[in-house]
Amino acid sequence: MREAMLLASVGDDVFAEDPTVNALQERVAALLGHEAALFVPSGTMANQIALQLHARAGEEVLVADGAHCLWYESGAASAIAGVQLVSIGREGAVTPSDIAAAMRPSVDWCPRTAAVVLENTHNRAGGRVIGVESVATAVRAAHDAGLTVHLDGARLFNAAVRLGAAPRDVVAGADTVCVCLSKGLGAPVGSVLAGSASRIRDARRLRKRMGGGMRQVGLLAAAGLYALDHHVQRLVEDHDAATDFAAVMARAPGVAVVPPDTNIVMVDLVDDVGRTAASVVERSRERGVLMSAFGPRRVRVVTHLDVSRSQVLEAAATLADVLRGPA
Ligand SMILES: *Cc1c(COP(=O)(O)O)cnc(C)c1O
Repeated sequence: MREAMLLASVGDDVFAEDPTVNALQERVAALLGHEAALFVPSGTMANQIALQLHARAGEEVLVADGAHCLWYESGAASAIAGVQLVSIGREGAVTPSDIAAAMRPSVDWCPRTAAVVLENTHNRAGGRVIGVESVATAVRAAHDAGLTVHLDGARLFNAAVRLGAAPRDVVAGADTVCVCLSKGLGAPVGSVLAGSASRIRDARRLRKRMGGGMRQVGLLAAAGLYALDHHVQRLVEDHDAATDFAAVMARAPGVAVVPPDTNIVMVDLVDDVGRTAASVVERSRERGVLMSAFGPRRVRVVTHLDVSRSQVLEAAATLADVLRGPA
C-alpha cells in the first residue's frame, strides 16, 4: 500500500484533475451501482454532506437507532447540516411501520420529514448485518413516503462479504451511500460518497464548503484503490477471527457475548462483582490488548488486518484472564 501511494500519479483534485482520485471515484461508483462518487477525508464528512444533500436546515431526518451520525459525529448534524435527527427502529433494523410512525404531519408547525439514514453493517449493534431484503423494504417504504435514503456503509464491504453479495446489491436502492476505506479496508484516510451525477455535483460544492477539497490527494486515493484490490475478500478472515474470539469469551466467567455477524464483538459484563467496562479495558491495555468501553458494562472488540488470528486468540485469553482477576 505504501508503495502504491509512493508511485501514484497526482493532479489538483479541486479541479478534478487528479487521475488517481478520479480512478478511485469511478471504481467505487461502479462497485456501488451509482453514476458518480466523491472522495472525502472522512466518513463523518461523507455523512454530513449526505445530510445536506437530503435535507434542508430545519428539516427532520429519521436515522436507524444508534446511528453513527447521531452518536459519533460530535453533533455535526445539528451544528453543520442544521437538521434534526430522530432515532427509529431497533438495533439498526428499520421497518416500514417505523417510518410511517415517525412521519410528521405536513403542517407548518411541524418539521418536514425529509430523509432516512440506514447503516450497514450497524456499528452500535455490534457490526450487525442488515439483510438486503430488509434494507430494500425500508428504502421502498421511504420512497413511497416521499423520503430519500442515505446508507451509511462505512462497513458495507463487511456486510457484502458476510452476505456473499455484490456491494451494489447491498446498497439496495439507497439514493446515496458512503463507504470507509479507513476501517477494515486498512487505508490510512478516506471515505467515498456515491450517488447520482447531479447529487455528486452538489456534493463537490458541499465538500469544498466544509474544507474537504484537497489538492494532490491521489497519494491517499492510491491507498484506497490498493485496499479495494487486496483487502476486501480478506475481511472474511476478520469475521472468522471475531467468531473465534467470541467462542473463547463464551467460556469466560461473568460475561455474555453477542455473537458477531462480522468483525465486532460486544462483550457484556454480567458478573455480580460490579466490574466496569472502563476497568476491564484498562487492565487489558496494561497487558497489551486494546479494546474500548462501549457503555458502563459493555466492552467492544474489533478484529482487523493488523491483528493475526493467533494474536486474536491471545487477546481473548488475556481478556478471559483479566475477568478471572480482581474487579
Ligand atoms: C467510522 C464510521 C463512520 C465515519 O467515521 P470517520 O472516523 O469520520 O471516518 C461513519 N459511519 C460509521 C457507521 C462508522 O463506523
